[in-house]
Amino acid sequence: MENVDVIILGCGASGMAAALAAHETGASVALIERFDRIGGTAAISGGVIWVPNNPRQRAAGMADSREDALAYFRALDHGDLVDETLEAFVNTGPEALEFLEAQGALSVSLLQGYPDYYVDRPGAKPEGGRALDHDLFALGELGDWASRIYAIEEPKPMMLRETPLGGGSGVVDPSELQRRMENQERGFGQAMVARLLKACLARGIEPRTGVETKRLLRDGARIVGIEGEQAGKSFQLHANNAVIIATGGFEWDEDARQTFLKGPMDAPASPPTARGEGLALAMKAGAKLGNMTQAWWAPTLVIPDNPWEGGEQRAAPVLIERTAPHSIMVNRTGKRFCNEAANYSALAGAFHAFDPQTYDYPNLPAWLICDAQYVERYPIGPRLPGQPVPEWVQSAQTLEALAEMLGIDADALSETVTRFNSHAASGQDPDFSRGTSSYDHFYGDRSREGAAVTLGPIEQGPFYAVEIRMGLLGTNGGPRTDGKAQILNHDGEPIAGLYGAGNAIACPTGGIYAGAGGTLGPALTFGYIAGRSAAKANT
Ligand SMILES: Cc1cc2nc3c(=O)[nH]c(=O)nc-3n(C[C@H](O)[C@H](O)[C@H](O)COP(=O)(O)OP(=O)(O)OC[C@H]3O[C@@H](n4cnc5c(N)ncnc54)[C@H](O)[C@@H]3O)c2cc1C
Repeated sequence: MENVDVIILGCGASGMAAALAAHETGASVALIERFDRIGGTAAISGGVIWVPNNPRQRAAGMADSREDALAYFRALDHGDLVDETLEAFVNTGPEALEFLEAQGALSVSLLQGYPDYYVDRPGAKPEGGRALDHDLFALGELGDWASRIYAIEEPKPMMLRETPLGGGSGVVDPSELQRRMENQERGFGQAMVARLLKACLARGIEPRTGVETKRLLRDGARIVGIEGEQAGKSFQLHANNAVIIATGGFEWDEDARQTFLKGPMDAPASPPTARGEGLALAMKAGAKLGNMTQAWWAPTLVIPDNPWEGGEQRAAPVLIERTAPHSIMVNRTGKRFCNEAANYSALAGAFHAFDPQTYDYPNLPAWLICDAQYVERYPIGPRLPGQPVPEWVQSAQTLEALAEMLGIDADALSETVTRFNSHAASGQDPDFSRGTSSYDHFYGDRSREGAAVTLGPIEQGPFYAVEIRMGLLGTNGGPRTDGKAQILNHDGEPIAGLYGAGNAIACPTGGIYAGAGGTLGPALTFGYIAGRSAAKANT
């Protein structure tokens, strides 16, 4: 039987960070990927990394501290935070980042002005500094491996900080864009995964793709390897030290999401690589679970006829659409039900509201309603301003006709729009306080002043509507770990030889989406912790 020190299941963000940390600590490593392509959700993500008290902040003279970060999380806690893992993340995040940069596995810059998501809480940084963006990476540096990154054929030749999502204008000189395309330069999660992969390959850590892990091998209470199958052949791989589960979330396992998630979720924005297989392996090993009702929620938009490679429905997070002026979200009774510009993860609370009288979710489905001024200036999903409005966007000359198309009471919609327009005129939204937080302004139209950044009347036909679904960027529940990323059994004792990181575990920040990059920060940090701990597990 083949032997290595550490087996890592999952070649995404947390898995590759774990592989590099284990290798640097002196372990031999097997990096196992279930699919033919690596990178999973990380590869299609924005790639933003949120780490408090990080080296880039320090270099820019921005004040931050572990105390501020802990105060911030504790001010948001609803009982799901565990001190040991939270502190492990906050204490180790900056070191993990420095380590990955020193390995050539990351190259990041500040996302200027990107505020934390709950700017009114103690320890928050409304001026930004904790969210980091990737510098461009030229795929040629990866040779044949470049094409093995998930969805790499959908190029992202910009850095997030150049786009409206990252506070930029979205305008890059066409000749510069062309140069980047010719040079295969990529930003976003593509740059992150590519750099992590390059650093792994440079150390002789070559992902083994297309491997299904059938079970974990045990020696008494200790996990000592895996039984896998690759290209129809079974094999066993022994781990001298440990197995690390870094397989991503469980959102594409319908049974698991129905069993665990606290409300409806039918349009994940992640790719169908997050299938909950790591969760199943951990449960079979007797793991204690945590955070299972939570997720990195996001309202999403399903674009018809645009499935993932395997035919699964694809969905995109909706951000600018619900923040820019001249748009609102309404429920099926035609009423607004939230501050549309609020952060995407917390918004799930509004979508998951349950009416005991009707025994139903009144805010699902929801509709984005906007007008001609909106479509002229702002995007809807992949459709950019100025482009024709696609057929999957419903439209009508009057609000009444639009309401009829949607099956919404026309008087109710008209009343809602009239009221919203009066808020837009006064620059105040007394119903939901849209526009009062600096977060609300970040994705709005910053060429406008004050609350008009996000408030603008819906008054010029034609009027448009798109269904908004409840989706997510990934789940964040799974086996509980200690501060060394070691998975705990049902009694809270470490399971010898079993570690975890990323969306496959109960996230050290609980269900709190702290700021842009709030999932990848903990994922990379716990990958780093898991790799180092696992490499020392048998010594
Ligand atoms: C559109 C979008 C944008 C996002 N933008 C951001 C952002 O800017 N910042 C941020 O913080 N978060 C973002 N996220 C979320 C973020 O991408 C994920 O939370 C993060 O990638 C999770 O990292 P991970 O290592 O746990 O999982 P992944 O990165 O998904 O990696 C898991 C890997 O495991 C593999 N795998 C699955 N099952 C198995 C198995 N049984 N055996 C072996 N391998 C397996 C997968 O194929 C994959 O390669 C975004 C998500 C989406 C959908």
